[in-house]
Amino acid sequence: MGLLIKNGTIVSDSAEWISDILVEGEKIVSIAKDIPVEGHEVVDATGKYVFPGGVDEHVHMGPFDSYSFETSHAALVGGTTTLVDFSPQYKGMGVIESLHKHNEENAVGKASPDYSFHAMIMENSDKVLDEIPHMVDAGIVNLKLFMAYKYTPFMVEDDLIFKCMQEAKKYGITIMVHAENGDLVDILQKELRAQGAEAPINHSYSRPPLVEDEATSRAIYMAELADCPLFVVHVTTKGAFRRIKEAHERGLPVYGETCTHYLVLDESYLAKPNFEGAKYVCAPALRTKDHGEVLWKAVHNGELQAISSDHAAVVGGFEAKKRGIHDFTKIPNGAPGMQDRLHMIWTQGVEKGRITRQDFVRLCMTNPAKVCGIFPQKGALLPGSDADILIFDPTYRGTITLADQYEGTDYAAYEGFEKKGIADKVYLRGKLMAERGKFVGERGQGRYIKPKPYTKSYDEYHKKKD
Ligand code: MN
Ligand code: MN
Repeated sequence: MGLLIKNGTIVSDSAEWISDILVEGEKIVSIAKDIPVEGHEVVDATGKYVFPGGVDEHVHMGPFDSYSFETSHAALVGGTTTLVDFSPQYKGMGVIESLHKHNEENAVGKASPDYSFHAMIMENSDKVLDEIPHMVDAGIVNLKLFMAYKYTPFMVEDDLIFKCMQEAKKYGITIMVHAENGDLVDILQKELRAQGAEAPINHSYSRPPLVEDEATSRAIYMAELADCPLFVVHVTTKGAFRRIKEAHERGLPVYGETCTHYLVLDESYLAKPNFEGAKYVCAPALRTKDHGEVLWKAVHNGELQAISSDHAAVVGGFEAKKRGIHDFTKIPNGAPGMQDRLHMIWTQGVEKGRITRQDFVRLCMTNPAKVCGIFPQKGALLPGSDADILIFDPTYRGTITLADQYEGTDYAAYEGFEKKGIADKVYLRGKLMAERGKFVGERGQGRYIKPKPYTKSYDEYHKKKD
């Protein structure tokens, strides 16, 4: 006996049509009209949309400042069935060994959605170059380097980024960058502190758009010289986006994503009184509205590939952020957002006519799975794909509020925002996990998904360049 979802409007990244979906075990086995009911459990999806489960390609599930996978069922409540986490590099440990440790300690038995990893390099040393030939076997197909966060283990020098690019392309690994000029941010932070600046808004003043534009541009030049695909995470500015678009138009395999908060929030949130702005301290900083409007057009036009949450729920929440009450540089970085990514993008994007329903699926489900090397097991409703299914009721009307959050923190990033439509039923590999804002499944059942190299970022590799 299977699960038969009847009469829903199935939405893919290119079409929508009314049909039935039959699930047997953990897989979709058939998509067709009028599948006989036989002995199946029937779910009537008349008047509802049926999407592939959401894939969030950029989250931070611990272990440092942020909550680990123990709160990851929040994603399922919001319709996201796969999280792709940035595995950290532990001090004195290789990237591959770190990934195993992080998985064992923080994900296995704790993850509620299915999950996969990208790896972060957090040591400015050539040692990692010896690991790159073994990374694909270890499940690493996207390797992230940081051009920011000076005086922390994150920031690396350009020479290491360039050498990693030269090596990574031999194995079908894509280089990802956090593109902000860490030296410039450091100087601007010190200048502001010397003038007595304390408040959260200075987080934005110390990391203005130009530091992102410059680093994005530099990363593109390095990738072009190394002849390696580049994926720029959390693109937030008009300038950075234009550099990516321009490179892409020249035939370079250069791609980027943006995140929910850069589309729906703006710099004014950092200026909220009573230190409330600290809730929105994340990097890059929130931008003025004009940047957001350009980003909406970019995602609609397919010029940025995906919308992720960059979820990083600081342990202790707003209370913990108060470590920086008199010094904005000491405010722990990161904001929650994995639970309401899809609701926010639907309400602010689809409902407002900025993107189509097909765009929604492409940006939040299909492309993230392709970028992460886990398509079509994830990110698609196809026979043979995992039965990760989001039945979405577009008629729901409500408001986002802390009381409904599963993210573990003491504030909701999108508190008070209207919610048009709701994740009505969320299935992970055929099992019902969440229903209309409530988690109804069993926690810790998430399974690790091993990615394949030569992801979407390689699709146009070796296309003729001008
Ligand atoms: Mn980042
Ligand atoms: Mn991030």
